[in-house]
Amino acid sequence: MLERIRIVLIGTSHPGNIGGTARAMHNMGLEDLALVAPRCEPLTADTVSRASGADHIVHGARTVETLEQAVADCTLVVGASARSRTLPWPMITPRELGGRLTEELAGPESRIALIFGREDSGLSNAELQRCHAHVHIPTNPEFSSLNLAAAVQVLAYESRLAWLATQETSHRSDADTPQPLASHEELEHYFAHLERTLIAIGFHDPAMPRQLMPRLRRLTLRSRPERMELNILRGILTATEKQATGEKPAGSGEPDPPA
Ligand code: SAH
Repeated sequence: MLERIRIVLIGTSHPGNIGGTARAMHNMGLEDLALVAPRCEPLTADTVSRASGADHIVHGARTVETLEQAVADCTLVVGASARSRTLPWPMITPRELGGRLTEELAGPESRIALIFGREDSGLSNAELQRCHAHVHIPTNPEFSSLNLAAAVQVLAYESRLAWLATQETSHRSDADTPQPLASHEELEHYFAHLERTLIAIGFHDPAMPRQLMPRLRRLTLRSRPERMELNILRGILTATEKQATGEKPAGSGEPDPPA
């Protein structure tokens, strides 16, 4: 289970924090690290020193340019945030995160990304809006921001605690077979299709966006759609587009194949 939890660091600027993250991960049994556009050389003497024997995690880390690439195959994306934002998003505690992880990882093909921001500016609004939920580590409100690797440590620890609890109860039987959930990439294709269609039918004006797309994102992400459910929604969008352009709809009611 723990091998399906990915730690994603965005725009990290101190190699020591990458080493500290690797140590925190290896201590807790996590191995999957992704670095998004790091603003420093990831592997330096500082990294190795702070990793204290866990630098193989940094050697094995995937470095990518965008958050999209780092989480494309993930079904649950959770952003760690020290601050609350203007548009409230589902907010969970680290303990609740543990519960979500075990629920999520009971499903086939599910994979989780925990996203951490830059040391100086955290995560951007656009990055936070790509997350199903935000996790906030309760801290002194007057001094709320933890060191990056310390924040990883707290969430990695809660992940391990939750996993240990499932080891004790892993022999219970599960009546319903869970269906595969939509991946991040499938959701992003859907949001792009939705926006196109809303523009085509004159419901959405990109010049006056208000908070329409973020609100629709929040609604959709809250409902955790299965892959099949998302395919049905895309089928509806395709039929709507055809109506809007005067083309005859296929009318089969069959969902589109995934993009
Ligand atoms: N100065 C930044 C915080 C940077 S700390 C800001 O104001 O947003 C680097 C990262 O560690 C954050 O982006 C976040 O992912 C994580 N982090 C730090 N403190 C946290 C807390 N109290 N709760 C959750 N995540 C935290």
